[in-house]
Amino acid sequence: MRAVVYHGVNDLRLESVPVPHIGANELLVKVAVCGVCPTDVKKIQHGTVPPPRIFGHETAGTIVKIGGKNPSLVTRHLSLKVGDRVALHHHVPCGDCHFCRHRAFAQCETYKRTGITAGFEPAGGGYADYVRVMPFVLRGVVKIPPKNSFEEGAMLEPVNTVLKAVRRLNLLRGDAVLVAGQGPIGLMFTRLLQLQGVNVLATDLLESRLRLAKQFGAGWTRLARTAGPAVRGNVGDAFLPKSLILDAAIVAVPSDAVVQEALQLVRPGGQILLFAHTKRSSLVESREPRVESKKLPALAPRPSPLDFSNICLDEKDLIGSYSSDFTLQREVARLVFSRQLDVRRLITHRFPLEQTDTAVQLAARPTPDSLKILVTQS
Ligand SMILES: [Zn+2]
Ligand SMILES: [Zn+2]
Repeated sequence: MRAVVYHGVNDLRLESVPVPHIGANELLVKVAVCGVCPTDVKKIQHGTVPPPRIFGHETAGTIVKIGGKNPSLVTRHLSLKVGDRVALHHHVPCGDCHFCRHRAFAQCETYKRTGITAGFEPAGGGYADYVRVMPFVLRGVVKIPPKNSFEEGAMLEPVNTVLKAVRRLNLLRGDAVLVAGQGPIGLMFTRLLQLQGVNVLATDLLESRLRLAKQFGAGWTRLARTAGPAVRGNVGDAFLPKSLILDAAIVAVPSDAVVQEALQLVRPGGQILLFAHTKRSSLVESREPRVESKKLPALAPRPSPLDFSNICLDEKDLIGSYSSDFTLQREVARLVFSRQLDVRRLITHRFPLEQTDTAVQLAARPTPDSLKILVTQS
């Protein structure tokens, strides 16, 4: 079968690899669509994991084979069968470790294992013709209703990560929330918050994205002038009330300056949620004892100064959210498949498997008209 194999920094090659063998209670899925996710883009561009690997984890396709003589786990327990159109989930937590009992699913050891592969070290495998789905992620398989497309199925995983983050906020109907960054993820935030009766102030560097933010339910939009400050100091927005009280801010851009500003803007007792700060800074790494200080990079970024009294005295919560929450899967499927959150409008580019490299390049450097990018196999 065809697969796009990662061989090192920015080195993706279309190759022929064996169709994965499956064991008892495993699935072989013919991939139809796989989303290009920023976390994979980062791994490809920075070479943070050793090659070879086959990436791609926002996968939807058709079950073509079920492993084992009596695969009752699959057929009876989960009532999956050959021919089902499904969306896959590559990370599923064990459900009863210390982390899981505290609902910190993304920190669970089982969760951190990747249960879907097209070969080599499991890494999702969606950029290939077929993937093998292992038993421990079977609970994450969702059937796609007949009226919905594979593309909609492939969007469940990113939507799940957004809903998980929204659930970390203590919001009431009528509250106001800043969503900094209106890429595909920011737009999902805007819509999910609006569905919850929350008023959204959306900011982005691109005018085109602010227009979409309005369509996705933002009450107010503001153009951010630079990657820095999101709101203050910008051209006035006639529709932005002077007395607007922000109950929370979601920072969906990897900018420290925006976090700083959000900390000032949010009301006392409010929350600031970081969603895009997924890259460890070299300074944090250099603080680890095993790294000798003389090896410090000369231009290591300075830490952003935080005034901790914002957190203590003003009782503002600075929180993060990473990856998905398996227990929200059913609700995520309902939101997407009912089109209350219409993810079709977020998809702007589709590339055939042979052009996965181009898809990744575009995802790394979005243009005014690019949002969600997909690789399609069929
Ligand atoms: Zn993803
Ligand atoms: Zn666990």
